Amino acid sequence: FDDRDGFIWFDGKLVPWREANVHVLTHGLHYAGAVFEGQRAYGGTIFRLRDHSERLKRSAELLGYQIPWSVEEIDAACNEVVSANGLTDAYVRPIAWRGSEQMGVTAGNFPPHLAIAAWNWGKYFDEDKAAKGLRLDIAPYRRPAPYTAPVHSKASGLYMICTYSRQIAEQRGYDDALMFDWRGQVAESTGANVFFVKDGALHTPTPDCFLDGITRRTVIDLAQRRGLAVNERAIWPEEMESFEQCFLTGSAAEVTFVQSVGPYSFEIGDLSRQLARDYDDLVNGRLPNA
Ligand code: PMP
Repeated sequence: FDDRDGFIWFDGKLVPWREANVHVLTHGLHYAGAVFEGQRAYGGTIFRLRDHSERLKRSAELLGYQIPWSVEEIDAACNEVVSANGLTDAYVRPIAWRGSEQMGVTAGNFPPHLAIAAWNWGKYFDEDKAAKGLRLDIAPYRRPAPYTAPVHSKASGLYMICTYSRQIAEQRGYDDALMFDWRGQVAESTGANVFFVKDGALHTPTPDCFLDGITRRTVIDLAQRRGLAVNERAIWPEEMESFEQCFLTGSAAEVTFVQSVGPYSFEIGDLSRQLARDYDDLVNGRLPNA
């Protein structure tokens, strides 16, 4: 991923893609305290950019540091990266981290770094697989309890279990994994939130120990615009037996259908298809923002 043309915004200026490097003694690499975002531009406009920039700042604060750029500056930098790379449809990845000015399990008193990259990233999942619905494994590791980690920070450290869970799922022949939380309730997939459909209503876990995704909130809004009931609540795995449809939501994943989770199978129904279309219409400006 590092050997390509283009520009990356790095601590306030655009640098050539291949030169956007950090030292091996970077604090964030050793102690996993980087925080990041992921958002998409559609037709040159980054969807819900302000929400992402605000979450980035908040993620850092939850780990005890302040990103020394304002939300407005981060917004502007994201837009600058998209246009500097000649992109209109793109995935944008801001990341902030403690640098190599310090070492050890101590925060030090140095300003963190911020970089923003953007590239053309088609669909997050293989399109043929997504069209039929993903097959999800059940992850061996669980989302940690809120008293064990700052679970509402989009922190790189929390992605160690996600990456490894997806790796195990793929080795077992699945597309991705569904993760339970520390209580054993359904939480989310390794990089997206999860929804279920039953009797014309949506059911989705309460985000009390994982990200309350920006796409999740958008899809809830779209469902409510259609007059659908949305139940945010605790969901135990056994309930999946009775759910008819299932899909994932995320800035990268958008709305992706799921055909099975472990032993539980789902159909790709009209309601899921409608919400996927609504999301596509909204991000592409064919539906008004709320
Ligand atoms: N959960 C996890 C673990 C994620 O990585 C993501 C993607 N950021 C989400 C949920 C969905 O968040 P959003 O809709 O804000 O992209």
